[in-house]
Amino acid sequence: MLERVSDLFRQSFGGEPAVITRAPGRIEFIGNHTDYNGGTVLGAAVDGGLWVAASPRRDARRRWRSAIGEAVVETGEALVKLEGESAWVNYPQGVMAAMQSHGLTLPAGFDYAVASDLPVGAGLSSSAAIELSSALAFLELTNQSVDRETLVKIGRQAENDFVGVPCGILDQGVSGFGRRDHLVFIDCRRPEFSTVPLPAGAHFWIFNTHTKHALVDGLYSARHAECMAAAADLGVEQLADASLELFYREQSRLSPTVAKRARHVLEEIDRVGQTIAALNAADLSALGRHLTASHRSSQHAFENSTPELDSLVDQLTTMAGVYGARLTGGGFGGAVMALTDGSFGEAYVKLADQVAEGYRSRWGAEAQVLHLLTDDGAEVIRAMPS
Ligand code: ADP
Ligand code: MG
Repeated sequence: MLERVSDLFRQSFGGEPAVITRAPGRIEFIGNHTDYNGGTVLGAAVDGGLWVAASPRRDARRRWRSAIGEAVVETGEALVKLEGESAWVNYPQGVMAAMQSHGLTLPAGFDYAVASDLPVGAGLSSSAAIELSSALAFLELTNQSVDRETLVKIGRQAENDFVGVPCGILDQGVSGFGRRDHLVFIDCRRPEFSTVPLPAGAHFWIFNTHTKHALVDGLYSARHAECMAAAADLGVEQLADASLELFYREQSRLSPTVAKRARHVLEEIDRVGQTIAALNAADLSALGRHLTASHRSSQHAFENSTPELDSLVDQLTTMAGVYGARLTGGGFGGAVMALTDGSFGEAYVKLADQVAEGYRSRWGAEAQVLHLLTDDGAEVIRAMPS
């Protein structure tokens, strides 16, 4: 990737980039729809991400180039939202707007190229990866630095306020705090970040269905509203403030639908705790059971799964070598993650092929298969020469 982004930079602008940064994508390991309820979540930074190469310019021109776009895009000093093919520039421009609101200096003119080995829109958060790699590049260009919490905040702010996507803290938190062979634990209320070691020999597989429920935005807001109603009915500020005991005692007062949503979120937060216990005991089988239990709760209680995702989990959980499987991300389409054992070898390629074949024969469509390992969080690869 270092070569790829350097090549793209050279082809687009000539010369060597002064600065190179990278930030990883992420998977939601467990903790489904817990973030906006003030709960906890575990994620993993993955070994695919976005790489930014940049050099300062003497003038105030800003030139942008991505491998996913055709041409070089040029902007001036004003941070103006772009549309159409150049809309991707809103992510790094949003980062600059967020930096400004934190009192940081912006680089004037620069040349910027970004390359990626992370599929776009696969639920692996290429958006957080472009935000964090861009933020690190802009900080390098201006000889500034911020702590990780601020870096994460800047990324999220770019997406929430400038791009206009109301994402939670998981994406940027994991891209920022990721660590190889670890999971990132986030207490979303504060938010607070830490890492938990992942037992050796854990492998991730992603089966991306490329399906997306037509009403997905409406369904998200409906679930959000149901969770807020549950909190109000239980007399707490955020749903995560309610204990499971309180919920079990009071659930008959809630409407059946609201009670199901609340049960999912509160049991899921409890599962995150049990997952950490399983991680500390290096118990991969228990880990897998919690993952699959999370999916079943999505399927039956939160109702954010789909028949396609269910079929993948059904198939995966009958296979030798699979500890557990669940939908990863918001649901209503998207991808299933499986945690599997062993070294990556012939047997696992076959296993993945078998799942893909099962999916093809059932749905007449292709599932994209990705094999992922954990990786470190956002970092500067080439620092600005002083
Ligand atoms: P994801 O689940 O991958 O985060 P999003 O829809 O949140 O999906 O973000 C995808 C957007 O991030 C793309 O539409 C694009 O604007 C931006 N993006 C992702 N990868 C790249 C890239 N390699 N170059 C430029 N922009 C990118
Ligand atoms: Mg995203």
